[in-house]
Parts: sequence; C-alpha cells; structure tokens
Amino acid sequence: MTGKGKRFPLSLSAVVDRSTNREGQASPKVAKSVATPQTATQNAAAQHAKRAASAFEPRAHNAPAASHERPAALISDAVRHAMVARIGKAGVRDAKVLAAMQAVPRHLFLDPGLSAQAYVDASLPIGYHQTISQPYIVARMIEAMRNNANNGELNRVLEIGTGCGYQAAVLSLVAKEVYSIERIKPLHELAKANLRPMRIANIRLHYGDGMLGLPQVAPFDGIILAAAGMEVPQSLLEQLAIGGRLVAPVGGRHQVLQLVQRIGKFEWTSETLEDCHFVPLRAGTV
Ligand code: SAH
Repeated sequence: MTGKGKRFPLSLSAVVDRSTNREGQASPKVAKSVATPQTATQNAAAQHAKRAASAFEPRAHNAPAASHERPAALISDAVRHAMVARIGKAGVRDAKVLAAMQAVPRHLFLDPGLSAQAYVDASLPIGYHQTISQPYIVARMIEAMRNNANNGELNRVLEIGTGCGYQAAVLSLVAKEVYSIERIKPLHELAKANLRPMRIANIRLHYGDGMLGLPQVAPFDGIILAAAGMEVPQSLLEQLAIGGRLVAPVGGRHQVLQLVQRIGKFEWTSETLEDCHFVPLRAGTV
C-alpha cells in the first residue's frame, strides 16, 4: 500500500474544493460549472451547504485544500442543496444519505459541457453509451441498502458499474469500505481520474466483470448494481453477508428496483421497490 491518495476518512473539503488546486488554479470543469445565482445569494448558499454537510465539518477544517474558497464551489453547493431538497421531497428520508448527496460534487464527474446540468435530477451521458445515474435513484438505492438491522452501519459494500465514479463517492460516506467494479476499461480509468483528486481512501476500484462479484473480499453488507440484468447474478447473492441487502434494477425494457435480503445461509427474500431505468448489465470486459 502506498501513501499516495490513501487518506481515510474522506476529507470533505478535498472533495468540495476540488475546484481549486494548491496553486489556486480553477479546474476548467468548475469554472464553467453550474447556473449562476447572483452573488447576493452566495452567503445563504454557504449556510445551506454547511448545515447539510455538518456531519462532516470537523474533517473539512483539517483538510489542506480548505484554504481556498471559491464562489464556484459555493454556487454548486447551493444548486446541489436544491437537488437534495428535491430528493427529500421525492421520498428519501435517510439523513445520512441526503448529507452524502449534499457533500459529493456531482458536476466534477461530468464532462465540462454537461456540468451545468449536473444538479438536474436526471441521468446524463458519460461516454461509451453509459450514463451517470439519476441522483434520486442513487439516494433511493443507498437508503434501501442502509435500512438494515444494524442501524444503517455498513462495513463493506460492493457496487457493480462504477461508471464515472459518482455513486462510489456517495457510498464512501456511508460505508467503511467501498469496492466498485467496472467492465469498460476507459470508464474504469475515468473513475480513477475523477476520484483521485478527491482523496477518498476507502474506495477500491476494480476493472472486471461485476457479475462475478469479488469473491476474494466477500461477504458484503451491501451490494448495489448500477446496471440492469434480467435477474440478479447468483454469485452476487452468494457474496452477500447474512443480514446484508442487495439493491438492483431488474428487467429489460421494463425494469423494477429489487431489494434482496439474505436472511440465512441458503435463504434470501426479495421485494420490488419501484420502476426504474438503467443501462444493461453485460457480461465480460471491454
Ligand atoms: N455508478 C455509476 C453509474 C454507471 S452506469 C454512477 O455513479 O452514476 C452503469 C455502469 O455499469 C456502466 O459504466 C457499465 O459499463 C457498467 N456495467 C454494466 N455491466 C457491468 C458488469 N457486468 N460489470 C461491471 N460493470 C458493468
């Protein structure tokens, strides 16, 4: 293990302040980022952002990147706050999930040309015919996974379909260890590039076929699939810890979100949560 980029836990400021590097240069992604509320609203925006992310504040103060604060970061905080409020209205109640959604700068996971739409509640293209998931559904899936008998405590979770790395970043704030697998090499590389400056030390990215899971690190307290298969792969069911919860879109043209709980060595229960729409789960790697 090298020291580089392996700090734990996540430094919120390192995430939020990615817009400014040590030399004070703005990243082009942020410079062009979101809509531009007037300067007068920025103080209010900062207040909102602080409140929503208060659980992470002590870390924010310790982070070296916190020394520069830029209006762009505050603007994105404000727009993100509105996004989180919409997710709450849509029915996600888990405060820890909402705080994580507030803390992760979704615009930094998108192509600069799309960053103005980053906080619209929609899936957006990330290349290779794949999409970043809709924020509401990311929150909904994580909430369902956290609703366990352990007060939402999650040690080890697995995500199938890293894509650009956004959901992995959100997961890193609700679980001790996050493993995420992507089958498209350039997207695996994109996620690495997106996450590296955020210094999130509890995420491990794997390039491979997620349908096989990661038997070498199983069992997992939670598993989330970000792509829809016609059924949940058996190997993933087997890699779920007893008491663990797996959330997956299932279906073809018509898909539903399924919640599977492992209740015994040979026993799982399953329930349908709601309709959804995801890219397809595919076998093998490219
Ligand atoms: N988690 C992402 C969503 C990415 S879209 C986010 O935060 O927005 C779903 C991703 O699943 C795509 O990148 C696709 O390539 C990937 N995928 C599909 N089948 C897979 C498989 N068998 N193993 C790993 N990744 C897979």
